[in-house]
Amino acid sequence: MIAFVLLPVPGTSGFDYLVPEGMEVEPGFWVEVPFGKRVLLGVVQEIRDLPEYPGKPKPILRVHGPALPPRLFPLFSLVSEEACTALGMALAHIVPKPAARRHSAPFLPFRYTEEPKHVELTEEQKAAAAAICEGIGKGEKFLLFGPPASGKTEVYLASAQEAIHQGYAALLLEPEISLLPQLWARAARALGKAPAVYHGELSPGERFHVWSSALRGEISCAVGTRSAAFLPFPHVGLMVLDEEGEPGYKEERSPHYHARKVLEERAKEGAALVLGAAAPAVETFFRAEQGEIRLLSLTQRVSGSPPEVKAAQKEPEEVIGAELREAIARHLQAGGQILLFLNRLGFFTGASCRTCGEILRCPDCEVALVFHLAEKTFRCSACGKDFPDPACRRCGGTRFRLFGAGTERVEYEAKKLFPQARVARLDEETAKERDRILSALAKGEIDILVGAQMVGKGLDFPGITLVGVIDADQLLASPTFYAAERAFQLLLSAMGRAGRGEKPGEVVVQTHMPDHYAISSALRGDYLAFYQEEIKFRKLLRYPPFSRLLRILVSGKRAEVQAGKMAEMLREKGLEVLGPARLHPLRGEPRFQVLLRGDSSLPRRVRALFPKLPQNVRVEPDPLWLG
Ligand SMILES: [Zn+2]
Ligand SMILES: [Zn+2]
Repeated sequence: MIAFVLLPVPGTSGFDYLVPEGMEVEPGFWVEVPFGKRVLLGVVQEIRDLPEYPGKPKPILRVHGPALPPRLFPLFSLVSEEACTALGMALAHIVPKPAARRHSAPFLPFRYTEEPKHVELTEEQKAAAAAICEGIGKGEKFLLFGPPASGKTEVYLASAQEAIHQGYAALLLEPEISLLPQLWARAARALGKAPAVYHGELSPGERFHVWSSALRGEISCAVGTRSAAFLPFPHVGLMVLDEEGEPGYKEERSPHYHARKVLEERAKEGAALVLGAAAPAVETFFRAEQGEIRLLSLTQRVSGSPPEVKAAQKEPEEVIGAELREAIARHLQAGGQILLFLNRLGFFTGASCRTCGEILRCPDCEVALVFHLAEKTFRCSACGKDFPDPACRRCGGTRFRLFGAGTERVEYEAKKLFPQARVARLDEETAKERDRILSALAKGEIDILVGAQMVGKGLDFPGITLVGVIDADQLLASPTFYAAERAFQLLLSAMGRAGRGEKPGEVVVQTHMPDHYAISSALRGDYLAFYQEEIKFRKLLRYPPFSRLLRILVSGKRAEVQAGKMAEMLREKGLEVLGPARLHPLRGEPRFQVLLRGDSSLPRRVRALFPKLPQNVRVEPDPLWLG
C-alpha cells in the first residue's frame, strides 16, 4: 500500500510513501515521514495500491491519528489554490499539530457588572431567528443587518440553540480575541453549557485539544476568531460571522484566506450561514442586493436609546478640543464612563528635524518614526526597532519638532486635564493586560478608557455614556480603495459603544471634514446613505465588488527586476496589471507589489502562470490594504 502524503514543502503537491505492513493509516491522518535528511510531519491525502511515480518509496515512520476528515480536503485545496501555495503548506499553517495537552484557561474570569435579565426576543428578532432556523441544514446564507444594540447576538444565540437542539454543532466567530469573553459568557448562559474556545493565542496543546474534540463530534458549540472557521465538526448546522465587515477576518500572513469565504464554502455542507453587521462590507451588501444572500434587517434598538451625536472642531495643536473637554467633564460629574477612541499608537506620531525640516524615518523601512513616552524612544511601526537617540539623516541634527497624537498622548492629556479621573489605555501595546483592563472597566474602576480599534468594536459596557473620537479625518488617510468603508465602520462601531445602558449616551466626533460622505453618514448612523455613495465610486473605478483584486508581493535584493518581469509576463498574457509599485522596504529589504484586477478566475489564472513561486514571492487574493 502506498500513501500520498502532503508535506509543508513549497511548490509541491505531495509525495508517495510506503505503508509498512500492519500500520493502520487512513486519509486525513498525520504521519511522520523521512524527507531528505529531515523527518517531516505531513497529512495523508490518499491511500493507493500502486505508486504514482516509478522508484521505491520510503516507508512512513509513525502515525499520529487524524488531522482532518477527508471531506475537508477540497476546502483546504481551495484556500491553497487562491493563495498560490502548496496544499501541504496550507495544512501545516492552519491545522494544529499533535501536541501534548497543556492546561490553560482560555480567559481570565470575566464578569459583568449586571447580570442581564432573561431576554424576551422582540418580534423582529423572532422573525429573523425563525428565518435562520428554517435555513439550518439547507446551506442558506443570511445578512443580519442591524445598528449597534439592535440585538443581533440574541438572534445568533436563539438560532444556535435550535441548531444544537437538532443535533448540529454551532460555530460563532468574532473578528478579534477581545470580543470573545463577552460572547462566550452570553453563549454559556443562553445554551446552559460553556462553549469551546478557539483562537490563535491558545497554547499549541489547547488548540490541538479543541480541534480534536471538534473532529470527534464532542463539541456542540464553539466561539473563536478566523482560524476557527476551519474547525472540523462532523455536522455543523449554524455558522455566524459577527461584525462580518471587520478586516480581522482576513488572514494577513501566507496562506491568506478570509473567514467569510471559508464559511461560504462550508455552507455547502448544509449549515446556515449568518453574516451579522451594523456596517457590512460593501461587497456583502451588494451581494444581498443582488439576491445572493438573504437580507434580514433589525431596525429597533433593544437596549438604551440612540446616542446624541455631534461633530466638533479642535485647534491644530490640541488633542482634546474644547467641546470634547466640556463633554468629558459633564459625564465624569454624572458618574458615567468615557471611551476615547484613536486609531494610532504611541505618543507623538511624527518628528521633523529642527535644523532642516527632514522627517525622522526608520533607515531600514523608511516609515516615519513614532515617539513612545513610556520607553522614551522612537520606534518603527513596521519593524519594531527602537531609536532612543536618533539623528537627522540629512544634516545630522539631533533636535526635533514633535507632532501628531497617538493613544499614549491621549491618555497623558486626559490625565492632565482630569487629574481626579481614573484613566486607562487599551491598545496593541497594553493588549497583554486586556482581560484585567476590561474587567476593571466592567467593575466601574475606570472612568476614562483610551483605546485603539480593539476597544471600538462590539464591546458592551452599559456604564459607558460618552464616546469621544479624537481624529476622524485620520481614518480616511490610508492609501486604499477601502479607506472610506473602514472609516465608516470604525466610526459607527466606536459610536455604538455609547449609551447601551439605562443612561442616555453621547458621542463627540472631532473632525474638520464633517461633510465627507463617510463621516456625515456615520454621524447620522446611516449605512444605506454611505453604501449608496460608496458603491457609485467602486463602480466608477471598477473596484470590488465590480472586480476582483490580487496582489503579488516580491521582496529581496532583486525584487524590482523580478516584479518587473512578472508584471510584463502577466501583461503579455492579457491580464490587467497595475504596477509594479515600490512599497516601503522592510528591515532594509526592498519590496515591490504587482496589483492585478480581473474577475473571480484571477487566482486560478495567476497560479496557472506561476505554478512554482519562489520563497520571496507571496500571492494575496482580495487585498484590503494596498500600501
Ligand atoms: Zn536635519
Ligand atoms: Zn523599521
